[in-house]
Amino acid sequence: MTAPTEFVTRFAPSPTGRLHLGHAYSALLAYRRAEHEGGRFILRIEDIDRSRSRPEFDAGILEDLAWLGLAWEAPVRRQSAHMGDFRAALDRLEADGLLYPCFCTRREIADEIAASGNAPHGPDGARYPGICRRLSADEREERMASGAAYALRLDMARAVAAGGASLTWRDERAGDITADPESFGDVVLARKDTPTSYHLAVTVDDALQGVTHVIRGEDLFHATHIHVLLQALLGVAMPVYHHHALIYDESGRRFAKRDRSATLAACREAGMTPAEVTAKLGL
Ligand code: GLU
Repeated sequence: MTAPTEFVTRFAPSPTGRLHLGHAYSALLAYRRAEHEGGRFILRIEDIDRSRSRPEFDAGILEDLAWLGLAWEAPVRRQSAHMGDFRAALDRLEADGLLYPCFCTRREIADEIAASGNAPHGPDGARYPGICRRLSADEREERMASGAAYALRLDMARAVAAGGASLTWRDERAGDITADPESFGDVVLARKDTPTSYHLAVTVDDALQGVTHVIRGEDLFHATHIHVLLQALLGVAMPVYHHHALIYDESGRRFAKRDRSATLAACREAGMTPAEVTAKLGL
């Protein structure tokens, strides 16, 4: 007899603002699913963006989720405290010849795209035109030695060749999806200002924390094309995905951190109870 597989899911907000109703929906969905499955619920703080993350928003997340009635495992993993794990993943990809340094400024990339006339577009906009992929080894070394800031990009053609051309992931709402990471081009895995990126950090942490089910909004559906490729390249397990529909405010717009009135803090201040918030979300 094989032991039943453990169910582990997570809510992974970035402390760049107060949580709004859209976050509450996502968190509650994951939390209740874990309860239903007799599994585990993890809270992870995705604070790699040092310029936008604030301790008061981090504290606000804990306060708001506790108010909603959620409980999570301690200690809470904060990505900023684990840069070594992201470095180790980069080292592995680098050793496999899948990364290259990119010295380009936004301006240089925009100019190159404008000059080329027909730049291919992916889900994140115009694809990086490969300027630094074409640098010689000597040029790379020279520029690195000069102290120029650089990002690390994934050489997508090589990565796809190494990761397997026919990767598929299972999405509980959308079915079996064939991964198409190539449409993104050479994504950045380590930024100039922080030695990781959203795509790398989320993939590494979901694997390290043993997440079996990623439950998140469908605004992140496309990012999964990259995450499953990274999982294959890093040799870690692929979770099951559930990209839930987004919820909208009365005027049909997505809730955003800038909408002060839609924050959980504002709901609480206006006298709403957690049960009323849950009902408003249709849960
Ligand atoms: N940290 C991301 C955000 O706040 C979510 C990451 C994820 O669920 O994969 O949008």
